[in-house]
Amino acid sequence: MTTELSAPTDPADLCVPARRREHVLRAAVREGLLHPERAVLAGFVDFDGLAATAGALHRAFPASLDVLHAFAVKANCLVPVLAELHRNGMGCEAATAGELAQALEAGCPPESIVFDSPAKTTAELRWALDRGVAVNVDNFQELSRIDAVLAGRTSRSRIGVRVNPQVGGGTIGAMSTATRHSKFGIPLEDDGNRQRLLRAYRERPWLTWVHTHVGSQGCPLDLIARGVARAVEFAEEVNRHVGRRQVTGIDIGGGLPVNFDGDEVAPGFDEYVSRLRAHAPALFGGGYAVVTEFGRSVAAKNGFTAAYVEYTKNVGGRPVAITHAGVQVATRTVFAPEAWPLRIEAHGPDGRARDGRPVRQDVGGPACFAGDLLARDRALPLLEPGDLVVLPDTGAYYFSTPFHYNSLPEPAVHGFRVDAGGRVAFETVRPAQPGWDLPAAAG
Ligand SMILES: *Cc1c(COP(=O)(O)O)cnc(C)c1O
Repeated sequence: MTTELSAPTDPADLCVPARRREHVLRAAVREGLLHPERAVLAGFVDFDGLAATAGALHRAFPASLDVLHAFAVKANCLVPVLAELHRNGMGCEAATAGELAQALEAGCPPESIVFDSPAKTTAELRWALDRGVAVNVDNFQELSRIDAVLAGRTSRSRIGVRVNPQVGGGTIGAMSTATRHSKFGIPLEDDGNRQRLLRAYRERPWLTWVHTHVGSQGCPLDLIARGVARAVEFAEEVNRHVGRRQVTGIDIGGGLPVNFDGDEVAPGFDEYVSRLRAHAPALFGGGYAVVTEFGRSVAAKNGFTAAYVEYTKNVGGRPVAITHAGVQVATRTVFAPEAWPLRIEAHGPDGRARDGRPVRQDVGGPACFAGDLLARDRALPLLEPGDLVVLPDTGAYYFSTPFHYNSLPEPAVHGFRVDAGGRVAFETVRPAQPGWDLPAAAG
């Protein structure tokens, strides 16, 4: 038997993340946004939470600094999410032309957008430079292409070079972009590159920014801060070399890791800023404008996924629950479970949190391969058909960019705000993709 926790009645409870999720989940069930036949899976985005996180980010940097916080669109590219962040003072960092279009659709003005694709076509470069979108150049060939695009015209765009400070990787290889062999940017320590870059800046007075992004989840703060410090030192070197302050801005990238083990937001933006102050004091000296490109740390903890349990069984002595959330919404977790473990919370059919004795069980998704598991051997109240599982911390890089394997449809995404009286107001962030209608049986 499982016992049910009582519903939160005290509005203060709604500040406790697990209680808030439960409260919103119950409202979603009541409103039919989750339904065992018609809506078996959905994503939820906390709009109040996004606003609060954007506020914390703004407060973490000194008010005297000229900073643009450009949200990494790839972390959650849904236009209403970008629009909410824009209303809260953020710009956008776009890694592709598609993300550029989404940023503009969200109302982000071109001058608050940074275009960072490593594979920009000539047409994309021309488009961005014509509109004043900031561009970070990935390599020497791209630099020559910009020379050609700019021939005979000027651009309002802030143009920088992405440098790879080669300070090393974190615990997740695929997320580490400052290793010796990372595919991004111009590696600073490779033979001859520094001289070649100094010459490139000297010959191009419009090259006024330096960009770096050291890595994402799995990179320790000190590693990221050391990489940023190398970029700042390089900017100082350029300015000494050309004999004036040609480089006027540093784009420090994103990469602040997120705590996937619990609801605590750690590390916070202010902790990161204090590490930056220690490693790269010149960044705060007033000589440079700053751009940041945080993604996961802005959105992950402001979203969760909910799915129904369809069946349960025992396999090899272990219970298994088959849910409707799998590789289509938790792609990284399914393909790289060691690197991307997710918490799972068990709720009853009405959305109340289950409080039963933890039992080790596997939690699987609907896709047709054996590895489609959200968790193996995880201690949870024993799941039953009709229960709901909740995946916290999935507001970034999960349901927002689903994987289309097995013709599984994209689930709906609902934004929500909760007022002081506990009323939950939902709005559609993305409608569910229509499922495949099975033809009526012949004859
Ligand atoms: C992915 C990426 C980011 C965002 O990284 P997070 O870990 O989500 O903060 C920022 N800048 C660049 C260039 C990126 O590739």
